[in-house]
Amino acid sequence: MDAASGIAVLPVPDVGTGPPPALLAALRSAIGDEGVVVDPSVTASYSRDMMPLAPSGSPVAVVFPTDTAQVAAVVRACASAGVPLVPRGAGSGLTGAANAVDGAVTVVLTKMNRILEIDEGNRLAVVQPGVVNLDFRTAVESRGLFYAPDPSSYDWCTIGGNLSTNAGGLCCVKYGVTTDAVLGLEVVLASGEVLRTGRRTVKGVAGYDLSRLIVGSEGTLAIITEATLALRPKPAAPCTLVAAFATTEAACEAVSGAIRAGLVPSLLEIMDATCIRAVQAHTGSSILGDGDAPAAILIGQSDAGGAAGLREMELLERVCTSAGAVFAYVTEDLAEGRLLLQARRAVLPSLQVLGTWLTDDVCVPRTEIAQLISACERIARDVGLTIGVVGHAGDGNMHPTIVYDATDPAQLAAAHDAFGRILDAGRALGGTVTGEHGIGRVKQEFLRSEIGQIGLEVHRAIKRALDPAGLFNPGSMFSDGSAPGR
Ligand SMILES: Cc1cc2nc3c(=O)[nH]c(=O)nc-3n(C[C@H](O)[C@H](O)[C@H](O)COP(=O)(O)OP(=O)(O)OC[C@H]3O[C@@H](n4cnc5c(N)ncnc54)[C@H](O)[C@@H]3O)c2cc1C
Repeated sequence: MDAASGIAVLPVPDVGTGPPPALLAALRSAIGDEGVVVDPSVTASYSRDMMPLAPSGSPVAVVFPTDTAQVAAVVRACASAGVPLVPRGAGSGLTGAANAVDGAVTVVLTKMNRILEIDEGNRLAVVQPGVVNLDFRTAVESRGLFYAPDPSSYDWCTIGGNLSTNAGGLCCVKYGVTTDAVLGLEVVLASGEVLRTGRRTVKGVAGYDLSRLIVGSEGTLAIITEATLALRPKPAAPCTLVAAFATTEAACEAVSGAIRAGLVPSLLEIMDATCIRAVQAHTGSSILGDGDAPAAILIGQSDAGGAAGLREMELLERVCTSAGAVFAYVTEDLAEGRLLLQARRAVLPSLQVLGTWLTDDVCVPRTEIAQLISACERIARDVGLTIGVVGHAGDGNMHPTIVYDATDPAQLAAAHDAFGRILDAGRALGGTVTGEHGIGRVKQEFLRSEIGQIGLEVHRAIKRALDPAGLFNPGSMFSDGSAPGR
């Protein structure tokens, strides 16, 4: 038992000896020999996600259940052996939330990857958690429907991971985050029982909203085995705007201007000069211009369709011009629009050419975006590292990305320092320490300072009520340990 939190801390077996024989036998009988991997050279590849700073351990076993009954049997086996477990999707997370814990069992949900139902009449779908976001989007699009949540990692992250992190993406400015598309869930509780939450109806307010509680809980409350998701009609082909600015302040003034003008674009992204230069150099594309990089670029889209979409982007163009844009251009050409978005999605791979990237996730009121970017510039100068700022300007969710040499301990420490200072700067501007990536194993202390003591106690009470033995994902969200931050 952790004295401070009252949350149970299970003793875990020695990693070197593998899983306790009784647990191994129970896991194999639950899901078959082929679904249980104990070879350390294989299990090691399931020990980390994409966050370089997060601590990680070694699992005693990695299991691949194929249905809900198998997940429940795995949970019961781990509970009776007193061994914790870490749920995992594709491992694309950016907070270490799916990182293995020494001696725990990692439960990989990627083999539960079936789309069970697409119901056009009720505009919903039922999916297993291991379905890849893009596969799901493509499947519903073929039926004239649209699944809105679109993290930039959509071509490999899973719906289960999206639900558990409450992922966002480029479309949030108009369509919200993952939870806004959730009607109901099926989950396996720490007792091994199966709980169904929510509904299939458009409305429904019976009882507490347990679906919303579990969405974003980062695998600490339950394992999601099925989701009922609301769909939308497939939007019209997008009309795209690109605008360049000589100062980041002018670009951010255009964002506030768009909000004040009542515009609701389906996407509004910002890239600063560092990101623009990195993309130009890496991709060789001149879509963002081929001369000196402007201080910032905004890319906007409207999916209102036809004349309405064009009108919306022309209005945004006027807003940009009056905010001081040095260049603004609207296109209905789909290929041009796609190229511009590809350039936006190429930011992280392009920064990777310059060194290891560490992307932060801070959401500020939209009127404060320029202040946050200035703070990042100051922090970059102070720590002596490159920080490129890219983000979802339409909802204020910025991803300042620190580039450093991971083999240089001084640069690693500086990156670590910058990561925390960016979050502090965001909070000081009235923002939150995570807009979409979550807490995981790198932001526990920041969670504590953001939600306060009473908020923390409520979180812990919920955790104790649903997972009294501390079975699910220890180390994530609640750890008092040594993760980065303060
Ligand atoms: C290049 C890049 C771009 C990205 N862009 C975005 C972006 O635009 N927006 C955004 O929000 N994120 C983004 N991410 C982060 C990441 O892709 C998301 O957090 C995603 O939702 C994680 O999905 P996953 O399947 O990889 O989950 P994992 O990383 O495997 O797991 C994430 C969390 O979910 C839990 N989990 C997974 N499956 C289940 C389940 N079935 N039941 C219970 N818990 C479960 C894990 O325990 C962990 O806590 C990006 C990542 C990369 C590498």
